[in-house]
Amino acid sequence: YLSLSAITKSFNGVQVINDLSIQAERGELLTLLGPSGCGKSTLLRCIAGLAEMDQGSIELDGVELTSLPAKKRDVGMVFQSYALFPNMTVYDNIAFGLKMRGDRREQIKGRVEEMLELVDLSDKRKDYPHRLSGGQQQRVALARSLAVEPKLMLLDEPLSALDAKIRRNLRMELRRIQQRLGMTMIFVTHDQEEALMISDRVCIMHEGRIIQTGRPEDIYAEPNSSFVARFIGHYN
Ligand code: ATP
Ligand code: MG
Repeated sequence: YLSLSAITKSFNGVQVINDLSIQAERGELLTLLGPSGCGKSTLLRCIAGLAEMDQGSIELDGVELTSLPAKKRDVGMVFQSYALFPNMTVYDNIAFGLKMRGDRREQIKGRVEEMLELVDLSDKRKDYPHRLSGGQQQRVALARSLAVEPKLMLLDEPLSALDAKIRRNLRMELRRIQQRLGMTMIFVTHDQEEALMISDRVCIMHEGRIIQTGRPEDIYAEPNSSFVARFIGHYN
Protein backbone atom coordinates (compact mmCIF):
# COMPACT_ATOMS: atom_id res chain seq x y z
CA TYR A 1 0.00 0.00 0.00
CA LEU A 2 2.83 2.35 0.97
CA SER A 3 6.29 1.86 -0.39
CA LEU A 4 9.30 4.03 0.37
CA SER A 5 12.25 3.05 -1.80
CA ALA A 6 15.88 4.01 -1.36
CA ILE A 7 15.25 7.47 0.07
CA THR A 8 18.26 9.70 0.53
CA LYS A 9 18.31 13.21 1.92
CA SER A 10 21.14 15.46 2.99
CA PHE A 11 21.51 18.92 4.46
CA ASN A 12 24.65 20.85 3.55
CA GLY A 13 26.42 17.71 2.40
CA VAL A 14 25.55 15.68 5.49
CA GLN A 15 23.37 12.63 4.84
CA VAL A 16 20.43 12.56 7.21
CA ILE A 17 18.39 9.85 5.45
CA ASN A 18 20.54 7.10 4.05
CA ASP A 19 19.14 4.77 1.36
CA LEU A 20 16.05 4.06 3.45
CA SER A 21 13.22 1.73 2.36
CA ILE A 22 9.99 0.86 4.19
CA GLN A 23 6.77 -0.86 3.14
CA ALA A 24 3.44 -0.64 4.96
CA GLU A 25 0.14 -2.42 4.48
CA ARG A 26 -3.17 -0.64 4.27
CA GLY A 27 -4.57 -0.11 7.77
CA GLU A 28 -1.25 -0.68 9.46
CA LEU A 29 0.17 1.42 12.27
CA LEU A 30 3.89 1.54 11.74
CA THR A 31 6.09 3.27 14.30
CA LEU A 32 9.45 4.88 13.61
CA LEU A 33 11.44 4.66 16.82
CA GLY A 34 14.86 6.19 17.16
CA PRO A 35 17.00 8.64 19.11
CA SER A 36 16.93 12.39 18.65
CA GLY A 37 18.49 13.51 15.39
CA CYS A 38 18.26 10.14 13.59
CA GLY A 39 16.10 11.66 10.84
CA LYS A 40 12.53 10.75 11.83
CA SER A 41 10.97 14.18 11.27
CA THR A 42 12.94 14.71 8.09
CA LEU A 43 11.60 11.43 6.68
CA LEU A 44 8.01 12.38 7.50
CA ARG A 45 8.52 15.77 5.88
CA CYS A 46 9.74 14.07 2.71
CA ILE A 47 6.69 11.78 2.67
CA ALA A 48 4.33 14.72 3.19
CA GLY A 49 6.04 16.74 0.46
CA LEU A 50 7.23 19.44 2.88
CA ALA A 51 10.86 18.64 2.09
CA GLU A 52 12.45 17.42 -1.11
CA MET A 53 14.37 14.16 -1.18
CA ASP A 54 17.66 13.86 -3.04
CA GLN A 55 16.87 10.37 -4.29
CA GLY A 56 14.29 7.65 -3.91
CA SER A 57 10.60 7.19 -4.53
CA ILE A 58 7.37 7.08 -2.57
CA GLU A 59 4.33 5.17 -3.76
CA LEU A 60 0.97 5.34 -2.01
CA ASP A 61 -2.02 3.28 -3.10
CA GLY A 62 -0.58 2.85 -6.58
CA VAL A 63 0.29 6.54 -7.02
CA GLU A 64 3.85 7.80 -7.30
CA LEU A 65 4.05 10.81 -4.97
CA THR A 66 7.57 11.97 -5.67
CA SER A 67 6.70 14.71 -8.15
CA LEU A 68 3.35 15.69 -6.59
CA PRO A 69 3.12 18.82 -4.43
CA ALA A 70 2.16 18.38 -0.76
CA LYS A 71 -1.47 19.40 -1.35
CA LYS A 72 -2.08 16.66 -3.88
CA ARG A 73 -0.56 13.80 -1.91
CA ASP A 74 -3.57 12.87 0.21
CA VAL A 75 -1.32 12.62 3.25
CA GLY A 76 -2.27 14.11 6.64
CA MET A 77 0.16 15.19 9.32
CA VAL A 78 -0.09 15.90 13.05
CA PHE A 79 2.82 17.51 14.86
CA GLN A 80 4.03 17.70 18.42
CA SER A 81 2.64 21.20 18.79
CA TYR A 82 -1.02 21.31 17.95
CA ALA A 83 -0.98 24.35 15.66
CA LEU A 84 -4.73 24.89 15.86
CA PHE A 85 -6.20 28.15 14.59
CA PRO A 86 -6.51 30.16 17.83
CA ASN A 87 -9.28 32.41 16.52
CA MET A 88 -11.54 29.54 15.46
CA THR A 89 -13.74 27.29 17.57
CA VAL A 90 -13.12 23.57 17.85
CA TYR A 91 -15.89 23.03 15.31
CA ASP A 92 -14.39 25.45 12.80
CA ASN A 93 -10.90 24.04 13.27
CA ILE A 94 -12.16 20.60 12.30
CA ALA A 95 -14.32 21.97 9.48
CA PHE A 96 -11.49 24.00 7.95
CA GLY A 97 -10.02 21.36 5.61
CA LEU A 98 -13.48 20.30 4.47
CA LYS A 99 -14.39 23.90 3.61
CA MET A 100 -11.10 24.38 1.79
CA ARG A 101 -11.79 21.48 -0.52
CA GLY A 102 -15.29 22.73 -1.17
CA ASP A 103 -17.48 20.18 0.57
CA ARG A 104 -21.13 21.13 0.84
CA ARG A 105 -22.40 22.65 4.07
CA GLU A 106 -24.59 19.74 5.11
CA GLN A 107 -21.85 17.29 4.36
CA ILE A 108 -19.37 19.30 6.46
CA LYS A 109 -21.73 19.40 9.41
CA GLY A 110 -22.23 15.65 9.42
CA ARG A 111 -18.56 14.95 9.08
CA VAL A 112 -17.50 17.34 11.86
CA GLU A 113 -20.09 15.85 14.22
CA GLU A 114 -18.75 12.41 13.44
CA MET A 115 -15.18 13.54 14.17
CA LEU A 116 -16.19 15.30 17.41
CA GLU A 117 -17.73 12.06 18.57
CA LEU A 118 -14.72 10.03 17.50
CA VAL A 119 -12.37 12.09 19.69
CA ASP A 120 -14.98 12.54 22.41
CA LEU A 121 -15.17 16.34 22.28
CA SER A 122 -18.78 16.89 21.25
CA ASP A 123 -19.37 19.12 24.27
CA LYS A 124 -16.41 21.36 23.38
CA ARG A 125 -17.44 22.24 19.84
CA LYS A 126 -17.97 25.94 20.60
CA ASP A 127 -14.83 26.43 22.68
CA TYR A 128 -11.68 28.14 21.46
CA PRO A 129 -8.39 26.22 21.65
CA HIS A 130 -6.96 28.24 24.59
CA ARG A 131 -9.80 26.92 26.76
CA LEU A 132 -8.78 23.30 26.17
CA SER A 133 -6.17 21.14 27.88
CA GLY A 134 -3.13 19.96 25.92
CA GLY A 135 -4.65 16.51 25.45
CA GLN A 136 -7.91 17.97 24.20
CA GLN A 137 -6.09 20.28 21.79
CA GLN A 138 -4.18 17.33 20.40
CA ARG A 139 -7.43 15.43 19.90
CA VAL A 140 -8.79 18.39 17.92
CA ALA A 141 -5.63 18.37 15.80
CA LEU A 142 -6.11 14.66 15.18
CA ALA A 143 -9.80 15.11 14.31
CA ARG A 144 -8.94 17.95 11.93
CA SER A 145 -6.47 15.78 10.03
CA LEU A 146 -8.71 12.72 10.01
CA ALA A 147 -11.75 14.69 8.80
CA VAL A 148 -10.51 14.81 5.21
CA GLU A 149 -9.80 11.04 5.24
CA PRO A 150 -6.21 11.05 4.02
CA LYS A 151 -4.83 7.82 2.59
CA LEU A 152 -1.97 8.08 5.03
CA MET A 153 -1.54 9.86 8.36
CA LEU A 154 1.84 10.92 9.66
CA LEU A 155 2.14 11.64 13.36
CA ASP A 156 5.33 13.30 14.55
CA GLU A 157 5.57 12.78 18.32
CA PRO A 158 1.96 13.90 18.72
CA LEU A 159 1.88 12.96 22.42
CA SER A 160 5.26 14.11 23.61
CA ALA A 161 4.16 17.51 24.92
CA LEU A 162 1.59 15.90 27.20
CA ASP A 163 2.04 14.71 30.74
CA ALA A 164 2.44 11.02 31.46
CA LYS A 165 -1.08 10.06 32.44
CA ILE A 166 -2.87 11.91 29.64
CA ARG A 167 -0.28 10.57 27.26
CA ARG A 168 -1.00 6.96 28.20
CA ASN A 169 -4.74 7.45 27.80
CA LEU A 170 -4.43 9.27 24.53
CA ARG A 171 -2.16 6.71 22.95
CA MET A 172 -4.69 3.95 23.55
CA GLU A 173 -7.40 6.22 22.22
CA LEU A 174 -5.32 6.93 19.14
CA ARG A 175 -4.87 3.21 18.56
CA ARG A 176 -8.59 2.60 18.92
CA ILE A 177 -9.42 5.35 16.43
CA GLN A 178 -6.80 4.09 13.99
CA GLN A 179 -8.19 0.57 14.11
CA ARG A 180 -11.78 1.70 13.86
CA LEU A 181 -11.09 3.76 10.74
CA GLY A 182 -8.65 1.25 9.27
CA MET A 183 -6.35 4.25 8.75
CA THR A 184 -2.75 3.68 7.65
CA MET A 185 -0.45 5.59 9.99
CA ILE A 186 3.22 6.25 10.50
CA PHE A 187 3.79 7.23 14.08
CA VAL A 188 7.08 8.76 15.18
CA THR A 189 8.36 8.61 18.72
CA HIS A 190 11.52 8.24 20.73
CA ASP A 191 9.57 6.61 23.56
CA GLN A 192 10.21 2.86 23.54
CA GLU A 193 7.23 1.96 25.68
CA GLU A 194 4.89 3.98 23.49
CA ALA A 195 6.20 2.27 20.35
CA LEU A 196 5.84 -1.21 21.79
CA MET A 197 2.33 -0.52 23.11
CA ILE A 198 0.53 0.82 20.07
CA SER A 199 2.17 -0.47 16.89
CA ASP A 200 1.52 -3.25 14.45
CA ARG A 201 5.18 -3.04 13.51
CA VAL A 202 8.12 -0.97 14.69
CA CYS A 203 11.04 0.29 12.60
CA ILE A 204 14.11 1.08 14.67
CA MET A 205 15.94 4.00 13.10
CA HIS A 206 19.54 5.00 13.69
CA GLU A 207 21.56 7.61 11.82
CA GLY A 208 19.22 7.79 8.86
CA ARG A 209 18.78 4.05 8.39
CA ILE A 210 16.27 1.43 9.49
CA ILE A 211 18.24 -1.16 11.39
CA GLN A 212 15.42 -3.48 12.42
CA THR A 213 11.74 -3.84 11.53
CA GLY A 214 9.30 -6.21 13.16
CA ARG A 215 6.36 -6.75 15.43
CA PRO A 216 6.90 -5.18 18.85
CA GLU A 217 7.10 -8.51 20.65
CA ASP A 218 9.62 -9.89 18.13
CA ILE A 219 11.90 -6.88 18.36
CA TYR A 220 11.68 -6.98 22.11
CA ALA A 221 12.43 -10.70 22.24
CA GLU A 222 15.13 -10.72 19.57
CA PRO A 223 16.89 -7.42 19.04
CA ASN A 224 19.28 -7.84 16.11
CA SER A 225 22.07 -5.64 17.47
CA SER A 226 23.36 -4.23 20.70
CA PHE A 227 22.07 -0.80 19.64
CA VAL A 228 18.50 -2.11 19.36
CA ALA A 229 18.83 -4.09 22.58
CA ARG A 230 20.01 -1.05 24.47
CA PHE A 231 17.53 1.27 22.86
CA ILE A 232 14.56 -0.97 23.48
CA GLY A 233 15.62 -1.40 27.10
CA HIS A 234 16.06 -5.13 26.80
CA TYR A 235 18.77 -5.35 29.40
CA ASN A 236 17.39 -2.81 31.81
P1 ATP B 1 14.01 14.41 17.25
O1 ATP B 1 13.69 13.09 17.88
O2 ATP B 1 14.88 15.23 18.13
O3 ATP B 1 12.81 15.14 16.76
P2 ATP B 1 14.56 13.57 14.53
O4 ATP B 1 14.88 12.11 14.45
O5 ATP B 1 13.19 14.00 14.17
O6 ATP B 1 14.95 14.08 15.97
P3 ATP B 1 15.38 15.32 12.39
O7 ATP B 1 14.65 16.51 12.84
O8 ATP B 1 14.86 14.57 11.22
O9 ATP B 1 15.63 14.31 13.59
O10 ATP B 1 16.88 15.78 12.08
C1 ATP B 1 17.85 14.89 11.57
C2 ATP B 1 19.14 15.65 11.32
O11 ATP B 1 18.94 16.57 10.26
C3 ATP B 1 19.62 16.46 12.51
O12 ATP B 1 21.02 16.33 12.58
C4 ATP B 1 19.22 17.87 12.16
O13 ATP B 1 20.11 18.79 12.71
C5 ATP B 1 19.28 17.88 10.64
N1 ATP B 1 18.30 18.81 10.05
C6 ATP B 1 16.96 18.70 10.11
N2 ATP B 1 16.35 19.70 9.42
C7 ATP B 1 17.33 20.47 8.93
C8 ATP B 1 17.37 21.65 8.12
N3 ATP B 1 16.23 22.23 7.68
N4 ATP B 1 18.57 22.15 7.79
C9 ATP B 1 19.71 21.56 8.19
N5 ATP B 1 19.76 20.45 8.93
C10 ATP B 1 18.59 19.90 9.31
MG1 MG C 1 11.71 15.07 15.16
